[in-house]
Amino acid sequence: MKSISNSEVTPILYDAHCHCSELKGNYDVYIAAVSMDLKSSLATLSMRGVLRGVGIHPWNAGNGELREVLNLVREADFLGEIGLDYRLSRASKEVQLEYFSSILEAAPEKTANVHALDAWRDALNILLRKGVKRAILHWYSGPVELLKEIEGAGYFITINPSVTFQEKHKRVLEKAPLEILLTESDGGYVYRGRLLEPPMVRESLESIAKVKGIGLEDAEKAVERNFKRAFNI
Ligand SMILES: [Zn+2]
Repeated sequence: MKSISNSEVTPILYDAHCHCSELKGNYDVYIAAVSMDLKSSLATLSMRGVLRGVGIHPWNAGNGELREVLNLVREADFLGEIGLDYRLSRASKEVQLEYFSSILEAAPEKTANVHALDAWRDALNILLRKGVKRAILHWYSGPVELLKEIEGAGYFITINPSVTFQEKHKRVLEKAPLEILLTESDGGYVYRGRLLEPPMVRESLESIAKVKGIGLEDAEKAVERNFKRAFNI
């Protein structure tokens, strides 16, 4: 019998964090579509065939749209993209905290899709304090010491295709248990001159398989199981 190499396998792909409102394509990928403000939240809610998130990104904290986005939370499948960013956001910590907390409080039972660049510890504390049961720390590049706590809380992290060259993210993948891993594209975002798109999660999946020393199919099964748990579907 002929053995099948990884390049011949067509795995089922799961994208746990994608800005679909910024993309035009139709993709054969299970997608959780995140939003960054009122306009993208409305656009996301009008989509079919994806899990729909509403939120205000920490870069947009203080934009005056909080009340209107809070009114949309009930219609959403999950919350996000929300969180804190102590590196790139121009909003003060206080304002970021107000936006993040308010959206979590509106529906702590829903999965939170969280951005926490240079604010991993604080974001995790807030999630725990608000009693959030399911959270995804997207493109996790924080301290590997926090991974145990993330796992203990029942939370997840996503692996972005950039894991092949981003050293911090690579170290995270090496240390994180398979049970907390999801794949994401952060589609719509241009990273180092490359437009990210959902089919690229295949690269994340291949990295997971390689680093964990398992086959692509086993990595796919693990990510599928984690995706279903993360979004409670
Ligand atoms: Zn994003």
